[in-house]
Amino acid sequence: MAKTTLSAVRGMNDILPPESGAWQQLEQSFRSVLAQYGCAEIRVPIVEQSALFARAIGDVTDIVQKEMYTFADRNGDSLTLRPEGTAGVVRALIEHGALRGQTPRLYYMGPMFRHERPQRGRYRQFHQLGVEFFGIAGASADAEIIALSARLLASAGIPAQLQLNSLGTPESRAGYREILLAYLRPHAQQLCNDCQERLERNPLRVLDCKIASCQEIARGAPQLLQHLDPESAAHFVALQELLQAMDIAYTINPRLVRGLDYYHRTVFEWVADGLGSQGTVLAGGRYDGLVAQLGGPETPAIGFALGMERILALRSLTQASESSTGPALFLGALDEPALSAVFQRAEELRSQGLSVVVAGPGSVKSLLKQAQRSAARYQVLLGGSDLTGGDILLKEQEGQGEWRGPWAELPRALATLGVDFP
Ligand code: ATP
Ligand code: MG
Repeated sequence: MAKTTLSAVRGMNDILPPESGAWQQLEQSFRSVLAQYGCAEIRVPIVEQSALFARAIGDVTDIVQKEMYTFADRNGDSLTLRPEGTAGVVRALIEHGALRGQTPRLYYMGPMFRHERPQRGRYRQFHQLGVEFFGIAGASADAEIIALSARLLASAGIPAQLQLNSLGTPESRAGYREILLAYLRPHAQQLCNDCQERLERNPLRVLDCKIASCQEIARGAPQLLQHLDPESAAHFVALQELLQAMDIAYTINPRLVRGLDYYHRTVFEWVADGLGSQGTVLAGGRYDGLVAQLGGPETPAIGFALGMERILALRSLTQASESSTGPALFLGALDEPALSAVFQRAEELRSQGLSVVVAGPGSVKSLLKQAQRSAARYQVLLGGSDLTGGDILLKEQEGQGEWRGPWAELPRALATLGVDFP
């Protein structure tokens, strides 16, 4: 039988260098912005009990109905690869009693899994950076977390527009649901199949359907903003005042509803050009009821998640790829005696914090080729005879810098040349 080669699961991507370098760079710059807002990292498992997501996200949402990777483990327990991060974070905080009397600000980064139709900007394993603020009911938390989201996108060099809406409380939303249904029912025949199906279950989702004919009907629908309870309306005004004070521009999108059930009051999205209908790079909202719904203490909360792949796709649209930085030094051995000397020296330099790659034994030609491929800043080729006397040559690969001297002096020469330690 012919051997077939195996490939990655559809919609799940490998990330190889130099692309992985771009990921690290982005993660690094995000982490420093997060630190400016006092956020600490939380790491939770990728797999949770399936019941967590059904309870947190809502049984009638697209995610729970058709996008989850759910399987029975060997004990017969139903487990699910996390489709989003908030549910697991809330579960963990409740489990560790980390919410009582505290106002944690947490972030997570990592893979999420949804069984969607793969296309540009939409994958089955994708990566999110998520941020959650707990314990603050007022609009100040909404304003601050939106300011943080603006700064994250700015740090990545992504121009995007902020859209804002308020979903009110579950009570005011229930009233609006009836008003909306009364408007939508007579149009049911003109709605797309998905919307016809979710009309009675989750009519608000019709409002943000991406199909043109549904959007046309949605434009004429009564607006949720006109049916807010007074506290939600005041909260929405207070948020806008704070955004204006910080000079953060926004547009109100009365049809922004978000796909998850747990949102209360504020919802927001940042939308960028250049990714078509996958243009939403960051989305979030307030979820005051979720912690109690999952068995924790009554705790207001707000959060968002940003799609790493979409940010990186936009970066490669707008920026020439930055030249990847290789190690500081390439040490090539021309023969066996030189190889052990080179290995020894490389370990010594690494102990001092320098990045070094070693190669050989090999011909001058092959070592030079390898040195170039390594993208190291400096290179040295060493033969056994260089160990007993004579000078070696340290050469800058891209520039003109060079140094000649005895092998024993190499570490000092590197330090004088200002090669980064580390
Ligand atoms: P969409 O409307 O694009 O399906 P969503 O409302 O399902 O998005 P959220 O659950 O709010 O998305 O996730 C937040 C962010 O994560 C999105 O704005 C997007 O940038 C990213 N994201 C969501 N699903 C995917 C996916 N399948 N592949 C890549 N990125 C995704
Ligand atoms: Mg989705």
